Amino acid sequence: MSMPATPATLDRFLTPAHQALWEAADDFAAQEIAPRVDRMESAPQRVDRKIARLLAGRRWFGVTVPEAFGGMQAGQVAKTILIHRLARVSGAAAAILQASLIPVGALLHYGDYDQHKTLLPAVADGSVLMSIAVTEPDQGGHIGGMASAAEWDGKAWVLTGVKAHVGNSHIADLHVVVARTGPAGARTTQALTAFLVPGDQRGVSVVRHTGKLGLHGFSFAQISFDRVRIPPDRVLGEVGQGFDVAQSSSVLYGRPNLTAVSLGLHETAVALTAQYVGARPRYKGTLADLGVVRNRLGQMAARVIMARILAYHAVDMLDRGLSCDEELIAAKGLGHELAAEAGRDAMELHAANALDDGYPLERVWRDMQTTYAPAGTGEVQRLRLAQGLLREHDHPGDEADRTPWSVLLADHTRHARADPTTAL
Ligand SMILES: Cc1cc2nc3c(=O)[nH]c(=O)nc-3n(C[C@H](O)[C@H](O)[C@H](O)COP(=O)(O)OP(=O)(O)OC[C@H]3O[C@@H](n4cnc5c(N)ncnc54)[C@H](O)[C@@H]3O)c2cc1C
Repeated sequence: MSMPATPATLDRFLTPAHQALWEAADDFAAQEIAPRVDRMESAPQRVDRKIARLLAGRRWFGVTVPEAFGGMQAGQVAKTILIHRLARVSGAAAAILQASLIPVGALLHYGDYDQHKTLLPAVADGSVLMSIAVTEPDQGGHIGGMASAAEWDGKAWVLTGVKAHVGNSHIADLHVVVARTGPAGARTTQALTAFLVPGDQRGVSVVRHTGKLGLHGFSFAQISFDRVRIPPDRVLGEVGQGFDVAQSSSVLYGRPNLTAVSLGLHETAVALTAQYVGARPRYKGTLADLGVVRNRLGQMAARVIMARILAYHAVDMLDRGLSCDEELIAAKGLGHELAAEAGRDAMELHAANALDDGYPLERVWRDMQTTYAPAGTGEVQRLRLAQGLLREHDHPGDEADRTPWSVLLADHTRHARADPTTAL
């Protein structure tokens, strides 16, 4: 009897369909992505456009899109499998997939029937690649401080502002942009609105891509909007619901996506290290025979098991419609921390040999540094978790007061309504 390729640790989270997807993702990563990695690494200033087309060919941008709109309707565990398995081979490829899946979540949760009917089939077949643009150069992750604003001129919204670090900035066809529409002094939870803005629209411009520390091939750059006109049918959700759009898609899609990227990188760092210390000669054996090295390796093994369980447990809860915002947040924060600790151990156990340009661990370590900031930095995750723990209610309207997104949007998390007249 052939054994499944998936680790037994995850058995309770994975159906036979998940196992088949896991193998398909591994085959794809080995055949289509691995041969591209060296080229992407050697040209950090170049944006890779082929990987998105290859992913589109598999229809993986539609992993959470309902079948009624041409998607896979496969859910959040399936999405994690795709990102996680790609990240083992290339953090950049996983980032390309995950960055465009976050706005898909926003569209699924807040789009109306016409927007779903028009856009979801194109998202599912990869002909429309999305991005989400929330962060700003000066205010960073502080959504309430954003300066981008849209004004109603009687016929259309007119949007002006600058967004920073937008994932897939150079290859996205359609941006979900969150901007201020409320009057000065309005509460953040009512002052913002999300818009669907085509990338080729007059007034939209992307800065030249420059190389970053990691994720070579993936673009996450600044996009400017200069008096961009947006008709009312391009508002995503209600006017004044932009905070909800940004925050819910970050919690329900962004957090688990980044957790999956961290997990893939983490596993590769551990595997490379076990291979290295097991083969590097020392005295009459190898480095792996030394107790002190073995001890460190044992810690690495424990951490990666923990990271796997955290990542899959949280998205399994989401697929099952359970309240799990805190699990998603904790998995993202801890997933990065555990990976970063493994990255440090891996680099130190390789000593000088990991420092050479082109050595795989050097790339993995650089890529690991990029998963701290997106979808909530560590500070932000800990703040949210502490608020929940302390049940801080002295700031009405704060997230701690809200029904968790995983509960509020449970019916939409996996399935958008194919027809608004059908019961959820
Ligand atoms: C690979 C990558 C992909 C990204 N993709 C996208 C995307 O698709 N769309 C998008 O809109 N953005 C994206 N981002 C941006 C990301 O969301 C921001 O980097 C993040 O929100 C933090 O903003 P900042 O980096 O400007 O840091 P800042 O918000 O300026 O934070 C700086 C430091 O201050 C700390 N800090 C901030 N606020 C608090 C607080 N209230 N309490 C305690 N400490 C605090 C932070 O934790 C951090 O350590 C991406 C970033 C990266 C690296």
